[in-house]
Amino acid sequence: MSMLEATELYRFFHSGDDEVVALRGVGLTLDAREFTALRGPSGSGKSTLLACLAGIDEPDGGMVSVLGERMTRRPESARARLRARHLGILMQSGNLFDHLTVRANIHLQMVISGRARPDEIDSLLGSLDLSGLADVLPAHLSGGEAARAGLAAVLAAKPAILLCDEPTAEVDAATEQLIIDCLIENCRSGTAVLIVTHSPALAARADRIIDIRDGGIVHG
Ligand code: ADP
Ligand code: MG
Repeated sequence: MSMLEATELYRFFHSGDDEVVALRGVGLTLDAREFTALRGPSGSGKSTLLACLAGIDEPDGGMVSVLGERMTRRPESARARLRARHLGILMQSGNLFDHLTVRANIHLQMVISGRARPDEIDSLLGSLDLSGLADVLPAHLSGGEAARAGLAAVLAAKPAILLCDEPTAEVDAATEQLIIDCLIENCRSGTAVLIVTHSPALAARADRIIDIRDGGIVHG
């Protein structure tokens, strides 16, 4: 089943007389249990595409639907509700609330998604090698630990669709491997995963690779 569908997405940005076409007619579908890598040079439109798929940004043309429900051209409140219910969004950083411990961050995401299962927090922490860091504040985590904790917080909501923007760009090879394994395990258990990445290690594990150049898909 298709979890997310995007058709003919366009996004323009203007500064003065200049127009940047960040997306020019991008279409894609994300299926359950499918691990898709999105590659492209800097400025090719990857982050803009992710923001449009997540309903964080509104495309100037085209349509996004999530589990059959339209995301585009709806009030922010409706997009936020769809996002909270079905989507997990993992960024390079900023995935954690600074004033909450790792455990509290995970619990909060469970509550927001309506899937509060406090008994599952410890196994989630364990699966990302975070058991000893449950009561630590994000400021005291290393880069690799913060990346794993951010992933734990996103996974706590059990999203049907996971969108990740370069989740392993700033971590060492061992952490990258752990993150990839965790993403793939979630994917195999039913999640549709789309990852923006420059990592050959990550792309090598993908079911499908989409290449984007100048706002258009050239392959995939
Ligand atoms: P990528 O993530 O692949 O590096 P982006 O999606 O961030 O690329 O950007 C695609 C293009 O759109 C770039 O030319 C970028 O400068 C431009 N762009 C992105 N966001 C904005 C914005 N908010 N305002 C103006 N231009 C933007
Ligand atoms: Mg980007």
